[in-house]
Amino acid sequence: MNALSPERTGAEAPFYRPVAQEVALFEAAHANGLPLLLKGPTGCGKTRFVEHMAARLNRPLYTVACHDDLSAADLIGRYLLRGGATEWVDGPLTRAVREGAICYLDEVIEARKDVTVVLHPLTDNRRTLMIDRTGEELVAPPAFMLVASYNPGYQNILKRLKPSTRQRFLSITFGFPDAVTETAVVARESGLDAARVVPLVRLAGHIRALSGMDLEEGVSTRLLIYAATLIAGGMPIDRALQAAVIEPLTDEPDVAQALRDVIASVY
Ligand code: ADP
Repeated sequence: MNALSPERTGAEAPFYRPVAQEVALFEAAHANGLPLLLKGPTGCGKTRFVEHMAARLNRPLYTVACHDDLSAADLIGRYLLRGGATEWVDGPLTRAVREGAICYLDEVIEARKDVTVVLHPLTDNRRTLMIDRTGEELVAPPAFMLVASYNPGYQNILKRLKPSTRQRFLSITFGFPDAVTETAVVARESGLDAARVVPLVRLAGHIRALSGMDLEEGVSTRLLIYAATLIAGGMPIDRALQAAVIEPLTDEPDVAQALRDVIASVY
């Protein structure tokens, strides 16, 4: 989605199967004007959860995928030259504040340090966005909510969310769903029969047990959905797992072989 055009809500919320009490927590955070931090590995449903909640609460959603070049100006806005005149153009965060929308900063830890300075007054009881360039000071309406995510697994010394930032957010840890939930999610998203999803989810459990040793991270729900989609389309299981599980997880031939051994023990 383009961060500048909000995902309009309305009709039907995208499918999301709750794993614990996250729906109630999100609703309480929104009702009380509190920001929320989602922690967890990639592909475990954080983005889908936010999309679902935005639709449920009937708020527009601005999603920003943060990266190491993302600056405060990218979020707030900048003067642009248009037809010979300079014109102020709001960034996605400013728009979300003006519209009382939900702003989701995905992988916020990747963003440049000046972003933190902007987030602080917005995430405490001031709920204010300072736009230095125009001198504007926006007070967020009650419906505005800031949601951020990060993957603690990728943390290193250089990239860490400072305690002063972390302690402004309610936080919730996302893990991979339990086997029954994950089977339902993968079957629904891929169209593969649940009975054929069961071994895939079992395989994921074995692979996740290896993570941290040879693998940086276990196989995500997203990759399982890819594998199931290929299998549902008629691809032989070994080819589907090679493309959707082994190759995305590793470049090392010996790790790939270890994964093939795990697959052989399940199928
Ligand atoms: P993240 O933002 O954590 O990287 P996503 O939200 O993009 O991950 O999740 C990847 C995919 O996994 C989603 O597109 C969705 O199909 C599926 N998914 C994961 N968990 C759930 C869930 N609890 N309910 C519905 N779909 C889910």
